[in-house]
This record gives sequence, C-alpha cells and structure tokens, in this order.
Amino acid sequence: MLHKIQSIRNLTDSTYIIRLDRNNFDFRAGQYLSLGIPNDINMREYSIYSGVNEPFLEVLIKEIKQGDVSVLLKKAHPGQALHVSGPYGFFTLPDPDVHEKKFLFLASGTGISPFHSFVKSYPSLDYKIIHGIRYKSESYEKESYSAGNYFAAVSQDNKAKIKGRLTEYLKTLTLEPSTLCYLCGNVDMIHDAYEILQSKGIPVDQIHSEVYF
Ligand SMILES: Cc1cc2nc3c(=O)[nH]c(=O)nc-3n(C[C@H](O)[C@H](O)[C@H](O)COP(=O)(O)OP(=O)(O)OC[C@H]3O[C@@H](n4cnc5c(N)ncnc54)[C@H](O)[C@@H]3O)c2cc1C
Repeated sequence: MLHKIQSIRNLTDSTYIIRLDRNNFDFRAGQYLSLGIPNDINMREYSIYSGVNEPFLEVLIKEIKQGDVSVLLKKAHPGQALHVSGPYGFFTLPDPDVHEKKFLFLASGTGISPFHSFVKSYPSLDYKIIHGIRYKSESYEKESYSAGNYFAAVSQDNKAKIKGRLTEYLKTLTLEPSTLCYLCGNVDMIHDAYEILQSKGIPVDQIHSEVYF
C-alpha cells in the first residue's frame, strides 16, 4: 500500500525519521514494516518508531552508504509516496503483564526504535533503556524518555557519563530476576548481552530479541 511522506527529520548526518500518513495501518508496538520506493524491487524492514495511538507512522533509519534502500529513502521528500507492507514480527510486550512488570531494553544504534514505540504506546511502563552508541550525538530524541530511564553507553567519544560498550555497563548492573529483557539491533551485541543476562540469573524465556543485521 502507498503511504505519503508527511515530513523527514534529520537527527544526524546519517540518521533520519520519516513520518508517513497512517492510512489506518494497524500494528502492535514493537512490530516492523517493510518499506521501499514504489516500482523498485528492493524493500527493507524497519521497526515502527511511533506509538500505536499516534495519527501517523514513523520509522528511524540510518543511511548505510554502501546500501541500496536506506540511501534512496534519505533522498525522498514530503509529498512523495512510499510502498509499505506489514505489520510483521512478534517483538511485542505481554499485554496482561505490561503494567506489573519491570522491563530492561537494550538497544544498539537505531535498535532503539521499537523501544520508542513501546514508551509512546504504554505511557506508564516501568522501564530502563540502555542505548549503545558510538557518539553522544546518536542519543536519538532522548528527551522522549523520562528522566532516569534512558542511559547512553558511548564507545567512541568522552562526552557521556557512561563510557564504553553497552555490554560493559550491563555487567555492572544488579537485575531483579523477574525483569523482562528486550534486545534489539546488532547481532553481536545481542549475543553478548544474552550471555551476560543469563549469567545474572535472567531465565531464557524472559529474554526477547530482534536482530537488524
Ligand atoms: C526486523 C528488522 C528491523 C529493522 N529495523 C531497522 C530500523 O528501525 N532502522 C534501521 O536503520 N534499520 C533497520 N533494519 C535494517 C534495515 O532493514 C536495512 O538492512 C538497512 O536499512 C540497510 O538497508 P540498505 O538497503 O541501505 O543496505 P543493504 O544493501 O541491505 O545492506 C548493506 C550492508 O549494511 C549492513 N547493515 C544493515 N543495517 C546496518 C546498520 N544499522 N549499521 C551498519 N550496517 C548495517 C547490512 O548487513 C549489509 O551488510 C531492520 C532490519 C530487520 C531485519
């Protein structure tokens, strides 16, 4: 189905948010859609960044210079229509427990996108996000998260309180065994974080992951 672009917000030189007409597109927070330029055979998956009750659809995209689709989408403009299919995926929160449980969200880079949708969709969620990024400027729209809930672990500059990789910071934390953990982004981060969480006593059935690449 075609969805018209309402706006594009550039967050860094490479990362941008596309806001599309919603067109009655129904989804659960945490799901992704498939996006492409009409008549181009290439489509790519993008987690939905906006909340379920918002009147538009948003995706957060990092341009991969050697890539096909993310470069083309960056050149798109308001008024242009994009091809959207979906929603897809099962990276969603357990509805009956959502207001009783504590959540830990671990994201690398644009892997923060489904967590943004969770926070927008469930305003009273009890959560902590650890965002693994290279530079502090990649703390995409961190003002969306309540004070004390968002922690950026920054590996390549010295401007943040938490220096180094997300996984190093994770090792220093004490977690309640009932915490539900959601991991999203790069496969290496997910693999390493999975092992750390298990070593801290989090049961496997409380660890959920969404691999981007
Ligand atoms: C379920 C799912 C959800 C996704 N959600 C998002 C999202 O919300 N935002 C987003 O930006 N991307 C997301 N991705 C990745 C996205 O689908 C594309 O792979 C990405 O935009 C690159 O597409 P491309 O056509 O430009 O490059 P391609 O030609 O497909 O790939 C070029 C190379 O870049 C690698 N690559 C892909 N993503 C990254 C990255 N972020 N950093 C470094 N290397 C990368 C690929 O593995 C490949 O080797 C998601 C992937 C999946 C499977």
